[in-house]
Amino acid sequence: MIEIGARVFAYVQGAGIDPSGDTGVANAGLIVGPETAVAVDALMVPSMTKRLVAAIKKTTRRPIAQLINTHHHLDHTGGNRFFRGATIVASEKCREALAPGFPPLPLLQRFMPRFAAEFAKLEVVLPTVTFDDRMVLHDGDREIQLWHPGFAAHTVGDAVAYLPKERILFAGDIAFHYVTPLAFQGHVGNWIKAADRLLRYEADVIVPGHGPIGTRTDLKHMREYLALVRREAKRRFDAGMPAEAAAGDIKLGVYASWSDAERILPNVMRCYQEFRDELDQPMDLPRMLAGMERLRGKGAAHACV
Ligand SMILES: [Zn+2]
Repeated sequence: MIEIGARVFAYVQGAGIDPSGDTGVANAGLIVGPETAVAVDALMVPSMTKRLVAAIKKTTRRPIAQLINTHHHLDHTGGNRFFRGATIVASEKCREALAPGFPPLPLLQRFMPRFAAEFAKLEVVLPTVTFDDRMVLHDGDREIQLWHPGFAAHTVGDAVAYLPKERILFAGDIAFHYVTPLAFQGHVGNWIKAADRLLRYEADVIVPGHGPIGTRTDLKHMREYLALVRREAKRRFDAGMPAEAAAGDIKLGVYASWSDAERILPNVMRCYQEFRDELDQPMDLPRMLAGMERLRGKGAAHACV
């Protein structure tokens, strides 16, 4: 739990601890008000959320009155049930996306084997208050501005929380810092636009959904990754190259050192769906996972040489 402003905290899980990947390891936030407090995101499996709740209790005695879900993904909503008594606030689209439940167990276990043992304990708890594109939480003289871009970026229901006086932005997964962004349910073109909108906030501190706390410079860095992938994917799409071949062919440059570089494949596959105007169709997840495993294997082999 790191204090990033007066009574405003970022909870950063040990990103980078596990070299096999940080999928599922997200950040959270805590905003302490005069009477109550607001939490940002609930993390994923019970062991994570229990540690988060313990860290919150060590930081403040105020009860959590509101929990904000920045989007529906499991690594941000899996722990909702540990915030009983709090009003869970999210975009309407986030609630809609969470309502059908979490992805099937075998898929989760394959995608995030590190946490496999805990997935069976998950329970969906839906947001109870939703908003369309804007909402403001007032707490004493503190203002927490919630904003949804109005289109899918990382997911269909992304939201950010901005504290204008403190110039702090909790960006959810619209921001990944030094962890490869993952667009398997997103829209890369629109994600770039959403990042541009966030860069217009006068934030001095940005808490990303994944990776270390940073600034607008770090968010810009991520935006350039998405722009590079989209540009290079388009060239290969136009040349008729399959997505897997394109993902292996694109030179990531400095981004090759970001963790989970094999996410290039889902990002390219999603760009291809965007170019074909087929984004309403779900991603072929088994194909995506198989391809990512191949890419990861190739990366490991290169590292050994
Ligand atoms: Zn996430």
